[in-house]
Amino acid sequence: QAENHAAPFTRYQPGQDESHLRELKLITDLHTAILNNGLHMNYQPKLDSRTGELVQVEALVRWVHPELGFISPEEFIFLAEQSGQIHDLTAHILQRVADDARQWHRRGVDAGVAINLSAMDLTWPALPRYIADTFRDWHHSMERITLEVTESALMDDPEEAMATLNRLRDLGVTLSVDDFGTGYSSLSQLRMLPVQELKIDKSFVLKLDSEPQDQLIVRSTIDMAHGLGLKVVAEGIENLKAWQLLQQWGCNLGQGFYLSRPVAAGALPETARALAAR
Ligand code: C2E
Ligand code: CA
Ligand code: CA
Ligand code: CA
Repeated sequence: QAENHAAPFTRYQPGQDESHLRELKLITDLHTAILNNGLHMNYQPKLDSRTGELVQVEALVRWVHPELGFISPEEFIFLAEQSGQIHDLTAHILQRVADDARQWHRRGVDAGVAINLSAMDLTWPALPRYIADTFRDWHHSMERITLEVTESALMDDPEEAMATLNRLRDLGVTLSVDDFGTGYSSLSQLRMLPVQELKIDKSFVLKLDSEPQDQLIVRSTIDMAHGLGLKVVAEGIENLKAWQLLQQWGCNLGQGFYLSRPVAAGALPETARALAAR
């Protein structure tokens, strides 16, 4: 990874556009943010569609840059990958989540956790060991730790992905295919991978209340996934109608602004209480 690390700096030439300067600044400052606790995590509830119970939260990384303000995770995760910092970032995130989870568990929140992996994390041999170490004193069974990997990451190099997934599976964690439907894989290809869960991309869910085609796609995806023994999660639920349809079709878990926004770790106990009282 050493040459990767230097690449963004050596490629820079004076006169290149402002966006390049912004990227360089972000790459440098991200390094500092990882070292100095400049990042934090938000957690978005996933609810059981039958009982409405909070069963899990998805960890979403946040960076508020001291001068530039909020930077979207899509932007800085991409830059972390380009600049060779992604493993450091993922390691930092895992540590953060383990610490936060310990705190909220003490404050009475009973939830599993889902963590996003980047495509490049699948080529990091030390990842399974790192996860095992970081979650050594995890208070639930390991299957209540879910790792979300995007469909496109899995299909980049299915053989390499497979090797890492098998090693992660050996830890007992749950593996989930994120953003399902946006790549080019079929359920029959996914069947070969040791995954237990499929997450329908929000682009199919956002307008579920009004788009008959999305309804057809989502409904048949749920049926086929269930036929293959996979659990199904829908993200991007923004209204009651969408949630009702998903409940009707037996989608196992739901996530979206209608159910709950992502919240800071410290606010999770209160959010969990509010959800339980609904
Ligand atoms: P994702 O994994 O698909 O995460 C779901 C995104 O959808 C989150 O955006 C979340 O805030 C947003 N979302 C949730 N419910 C709704 C809804 O009802 N409507 C709409 N319009 N959006 C909703 P966020 O936090 O900006 O994250 C964007 C992406 O950045 C994530 O997509 C994921 O690919 C990446 N990301 C975020 N945190 C991490 C992380 O810790 N590690 C890695 N590797 N990637 C991360
Ligand atoms: Ca995700
Ligand atoms: Ca997703
Ligand atoms: Ca996404």
